[in-house]
Amino acid sequence: MRYLPTKERFRLLLDTAKKNSWSIETVGQSFEGSDILVFKNKPGLNTDICAWSLMHGNEPTGFNALLGIMSNKNLNLSWAVCPLVNPDGADLFQRHNKEGLDINRDARDLKTAEGKALSIWVKSEKPKLALNLHDQRTCFFPEGEKVPASFSILSPKGSLTKETTSQLISRKFCSWMSNELEKIYPKGIARFDDSFYPTAFGEYFQGNNIPTITIETGISIDDWSRVHVSNSLKNLLEKLDNSFDIASAFKTDSYLNLKQNSNSALDWICETLSGKVEIKFEEGVKSQKYYYSWVVVGPADTTRFYWLNSKSNSYSGELVPGQVIAPSLYEKLGVGNLKMISLGQII
Ligand SMILES: [Zn+2]
Repeated sequence: MRYLPTKERFRLLLDTAKKNSWSIETVGQSFEGSDILVFKNKPGLNTDICAWSLMHGNEPTGFNALLGIMSNKNLNLSWAVCPLVNPDGADLFQRHNKEGLDINRDARDLKTAEGKALSIWVKSEKPKLALNLHDQRTCFFPEGEKVPASFSILSPKGSLTKETTSQLISRKFCSWMSNELEKIYPKGIARFDDSFYPTAFGEYFQGNNIPTITIETGISIDDWSRVHVSNSLKNLLEKLDNSFDIASAFKTDSYLNLKQNSNSALDWICETLSGKVEIKFEEGVKSQKYYYSWVVVGPADTTRFYWLNSKSNSYSGELVPGQVIAPSLYEKLGVGNLKMISLGQII
């Protein structure tokens, strides 16, 4: 479920909330006037965890995970979730909001209606932990490994000059998470660059004494559509619900020892009779219909690392930049026998 029109997402959220007795609050409106909704399972209690997703409208794995959390009738903690921070951008499957602004660069100025709503809501909740859920591009991998970073986690800096208490608290949770995730993705977990981006919400909340973790889900070689990683994220959040006290007391080593996230991998290199060609995975939405395709970039940069390597002994045609590779060519280009969920099972 990479894409759904926003009205469908609202319907799913409202149905799930009603079915499982979650409260519904409106914390603001988007630029286009859609409600920004917060759902709570225990509205009378102090919030343990705030979590939000689809701040970037083309990053939906967190939404699916939070919908899973809202369907769980056996939660221990008090959750407040905002699965659709950027309803206008999500409808267009675009990173930015309808005004073309990046909400995650707006934590200080609060020029966007969506950023303002998020800021006021999370600060009013004062949760024990805040989870900022994103998807990352396909280029990321843990430095030195040859597999994609299926998860990258970050305890953002709360200050440029000193380590804040909230940063240390969230590092403990990050350590617990990395231990859990390594059971499923033994080499595919990375630590995101913790440069200080003061205009990002992770840094902003961390600086406001709210322990915050940014979780970025990525691809796996057999999961370009991110179905599995979305389930893994849901399972991780459910486990966190069960193990919150244990996680809060973890040593920070596992997180600090994670390999740094590198961003230099490319998608597919194909050696044809006329040379080596780079092909990239592309997804988007046209007229509210999701599409994905493999698109020719041009001559391959052979100094770079590619997730898919194939060789064609039979294809003599030209592959020109911008060309969409028709599925009938996969076999001829040598990827017919690769396990690539993206080729047939995107849902
Ligand atoms: Zn993002």
